[in-house]
Amino acid sequence: MSFAIPFNKPYFSGHETRYIEQAVRSGKISGDGLFTQRVHAYFEQQLGFGRALLTTSCTDALEMAALLLDIRPGDEVLMPSFTFVSAANAFVLRGAKVIFIDSTPLNPNLDAGALAALVTPRTRAIVPVHYAGIACDMDTVLAVARQHQVAVVEDAAHAIDSYHHGRPLGSLGQLGTFSFHETKNIIAGEGGLLAINDPKYGARAEIIREKGTSRSAFFRGEVAKYSWVDVGSSFLPSDIIAAYLWAQLENLADIQQRRRAIWQRYAHALAPLAAHGVGLPQLPAYATNNGHLFYLVCRSLAERTALIAELRHHGIMAVFHYVPLHSSPYYHPQHDGRALPWADHYGNCLVRLPLFYELTAAEQDHVAGVVLQFYQTY
Ligand SMILES: *Cc1c(COP(=O)(O)O)cnc(C)c1O
Repeated sequence: MSFAIPFNKPYFSGHETRYIEQAVRSGKISGDGLFTQRVHAYFEQQLGFGRALLTTSCTDALEMAALLLDIRPGDEVLMPSFTFVSAANAFVLRGAKVIFIDSTPLNPNLDAGALAALVTPRTRAIVPVHYAGIACDMDTVLAVARQHQVAVVEDAAHAIDSYHHGRPLGSLGQLGTFSFHETKNIIAGEGGLLAINDPKYGARAEIIREKGTSRSAFFRGEVAKYSWVDVGSSFLPSDIIAAYLWAQLENLADIQQRRRAIWQRYAHALAPLAAHGVGLPQLPAYATNNGHLFYLVCRSLAERTALIAELRHHGIMAVFHYVPLHSSPYYHPQHDGRALPWADHYGNCLVRLPLFYELTAAEQDHVAGVVLQFYQTY
């Protein structure tokens, strides 16, 4: 079925193809070319990250994080159950046991208050995910991490240009990861980035990203020849990807302004639903809104199914989000059995509305109108 109003439309500034052509004509389209360097400089100088390394995806940035932390079989890693599978896979691939945490009643972010009781001598890392670009309670996360000397890897896939007490998300933990998948605010088709906030990981990150070799140092003239010095894989994207991404980053302010405006229009139009007991996004005082996604939390799975069907009937594509990882076919047998009712609740009841740069006010009003009409009778 095709939808009059799709869920997502990839943003295109018009300069992407020009930059790609420039990259091709430069004669260097493998990794770490001119556009990759520009992207790195933008994250380091404009956005204030200590060190940035472009990767082939956020999934790969998370896998690099697990390698950098030397995660080993028997290690434990704490993360929310209501999240994307890549955060868990990265650590499970290294043999770790993932301990899933419930979400908060306020929003789908992890319940930071539950962390301390779940830390054991085997705990190595906490992986907060800033759902919808809304900051987790990082004061508590960082305090628990400091007290027990475990690392924090922020999954900031949703969270470009969003802040916690004024600090950019992705810059608070030792490591942070971003995604430029076509469903995110700033895109490259597939792509990601590892932010290295603790300089002690910088040199090894470069090596892991370049197949375990000293190639990066060699190209800087720091070593006479490049050789195999550590484990690693191929985590760096072609400069063609970086060229696409650069055109997006140049328009970051405009993209963000537009997405925030769309988000606000939904929030305003749908505010009356709170009186029906429908959940709307809540921003804690320490958080900002980056317009990544707009969601509603229905009162039941049946209600959500009916709402998605009603929107579909009107040519509007709305989607639910994660199946909580603790109840997934792969991990359920390994979960320790704790009930995670809020993760289940968001898994059953959360619905995301269309949100993309080109969405017009009229289209948005149509979406909101169908939702409001639905609740007249439901
Ligand atoms: C999109 C996403 C990822 C994975 O990003 P890729 O770039 O597609 O690998 C990881 N975590 C979260 C929370 C995401 O939304």
